Amino acid sequence: MVSRNPSPRPAAPEPGALTPQFRRLAVLGVGLLGGSFALAAKRAALAREVVGYSKSPSTIQAAIKAGVIDHGADSALQAATGADLVVLAVPVAAIGPLLRQIRLGLSDSALLLDVGSTKADVADAALHALGEAARQFVPCHPIAGSERSGVQHAQVDLFDGRRVVVTPLEANPARFVDAATQVWEALGGVVSVMSPHEHDAAFAAVSHLPHLLAFAFVYAIARQPQGSSFLQLAGPGFRDFTRIAGSDPTMWRDVFQANSAEVLQQLQMFKQAVAGFEAQLRQGNWSVLESLIRQASQSRRDWASPSPADDAT
Ligand code: NAP
Repeated sequence: MVSRNPSPRPAAPEPGALTPQFRRLAVLGVGLLGGSFALAAKRAALAREVVGYSKSPSTIQAAIKAGVIDHGADSALQAATGADLVVLAVPVAAIGPLLRQIRLGLSDSALLLDVGSTKADVADAALHALGEAARQFVPCHPIAGSERSGVQHAQVDLFDGRRVVVTPLEANPARFVDAATQVWEALGGVVSVMSPHEHDAAFAAVSHLPHLLAFAFVYAIARQPQGSSFLQLAGPGFRDFTRIAGSDPTMWRDVFQANSAEVLQQLQMFKQAVAGFEAQLRQGNWSVLESLIRQASQSRRDWASPSPADDAT
């Protein structure tokens, strides 16, 4: 992994810092991530105008009303035509189809980015959908967000001090990768570069499996006859452990589908660990159980959150 900066930066870039300039930013998918990108781009004066397209006309209207985008478009193609920066902030399974829709409107010099939580599938989808124009598409994943969805939760400072993983395609000329890096830095992000496969292996472990476990854990409690009365008694530990179980179902179905092999591998390792804990519990080996807990507790305390807040996806 190559980091542009050794450690995340806590705040937005200073006003007047070198910011790349675009005439027209097109945001496709004006939800939490897309809306936050648009707001941060406006703060950084990254583009002269921001046009948005989203599946639901009501989302576009809400984004205009909230000042997140300047104009709405009737289609992805209309939004992307004439744009020199295009950001796709839709669920990962929608990225390939959307790229196909905009391909004919793209200028040769336009920079295309996404914000999807998986990268190998997005890289493949871009190559298939765009052909030669895939050279302009730089896959990205900002490690920022929350369990909330929708433009109403967009935040101008969502990317401040947050890591943004950039996973260039072999087809990307260096100038497109550099431009993508400059865009994220202008939005307050801290860029790390790695391959799509390295990304997917790492995030299966530290993001995708935790979400799967959180969903399964809440499901297991809620389906018990006394589940709802147990839940009424739950406190801060339960809240911390399960916050991400409130995340968007469609988005996470897509992530598990796109990265199933890596998630299954992590799940196997998790099941082995649980089996080890269970065996000690069954056999009453309390000192061994304590030793396992001690190792986990130490690892958690040794872990320094790479971001100022630890509520990112
Ligand atoms: P979100 O708030 O639900 O926003 C997604 C937006 O895309 C919505 O406005 C949605 O529909 C629109 N959309 C869906 N399908 C579309 C299509 N085919 N064409 C046009 N617009 C479409 O979700 P999000 O949290 O911003 O996630 C967006 C992406 O960011 C996902 O790929 C996710 O993996 C990634 N990501 C999320 C997080 C996180 O914490 N949430 C973190 C990092 C990366 P409507 O127009 O109907 O509202």
